[in-house]
Amino acid sequence: MDPAIALLRDLVAIDSVNPSLVPGARGEAAIALRVAEECRAGGLDVTVTEVAPGRPNVVAVLEGPKPGRTLMFCGHLDTVGVAGMAAPFDPVVRDGRLYGRGAQDMKSGVAAMVSAARLLAESGRWTYGRVIVAAVADEEHASIGADALVTTHRADAAVITEPTDLDIAVAHKGFQWIEVETCGRAAHGSRPREGRDAIIRMGRVLGRLESLDRRLQSRPPDPLLGTGSVHASTVGGGRELSSYPDRCVLQLERRTLPGEPADAALLEVQAILEACRAEDPEFEGEARALFGRGGYAIDAASPLPEALAHAAASAGCAPKRVGMTFWSDAAILGAAGIPTVLFGPGGAGLHSTEEYVVVEDVITCRNTLVELARAFTG
Ligand SMILES: [Zn+2]
Repeated sequence: MDPAIALLRDLVAIDSVNPSLVPGARGEAAIALRVAEECRAGGLDVTVTEVAPGRPNVVAVLEGPKPGRTLMFCGHLDTVGVAGMAAPFDPVVRDGRLYGRGAQDMKSGVAAMVSAARLLAESGRWTYGRVIVAAVADEEHASIGADALVTTHRADAAVITEPTDLDIAVAHKGFQWIEVETCGRAAHGSRPREGRDAIIRMGRVLGRLESLDRRLQSRPPDPLLGTGSVHASTVGGGRELSSYPDRCVLQLERRTLPGEPADAALLEVQAILEACRAEDPEFEGEARALFGRGGYAIDAASPLPEALAHAAASAGCAPKRVGMTFWSDAAILGAAGIPTVLFGPGGAGLHSTEEYVVVEDVITCRNTLVELARAFTG
């Protein structure tokens, strides 16, 4: 069996569900040990660092005999939860696909990058520069792993091996999370003069959010990413049927394009609240930003996408340049000054109850990374 696939099977068999998503879940400790062991066996210089209790990053460095450029391979060790999955940690191979939680997102990418570094180390044809293999914690929640990584490591370029169907992703969207609270006045349901309905007030906000979403989606689209958008994520309010609700809380998500300001969503929602107040002086509501991450687009002048396309061609595939809708750690590496693309195997079912990766793609991904390292670091 190809060593990348053997490692992938081991990694899928290790539970690494993110405990910030699923309370009490195992986290990255066990899988980090397996990745570290594999890198040490290949002669890499390995460091395991806890970025939070029980939440390690693994960084392995392969140093060529002569100085040159530094190329980083980066992937996350955590996965989302496994609710509804029959055998999430049983890496079954069927019809050229390997099944299991994280098979595609992204234990396959981690296996490909570790295997690439080992092949480079063992090939004896490794002369210039440095390859850094960074397997990080917590990408599926708050990316504390990538945040910590960029404080200690630099590179001239990075490839994140998130699943891209073997295309080269040069951009992705960002997101901003906002909480809105409307206030009313609690009263007996039979006394409309006393009561003020916080949920009905939120309805006005929701109507305007729908208009905002239409406006965002009718803007001229980015050729790779389309448009921004906004949607309501969760809503709660009210105590019982016979009372006016005094409070309603809405959480919403705005997806952004690269270059949009970090407070775009907050300002938009505040403008909506302002309009509600202008219409009805009694209206009471406020908004606050919960969390957000910017979008990412690689500098158009970066040679990395072209170099990766060449490497992929030598490995037998012809990738397209694409944008990804989902956010990734590329935004963190990019903001730290490391030109980054995403390139990883194909498959289906990420974050769903049946996840698989195409086995052949994992090998092609690994071979592409080997070719890229040889061409890029010299
Ligand atoms: Zn992922």
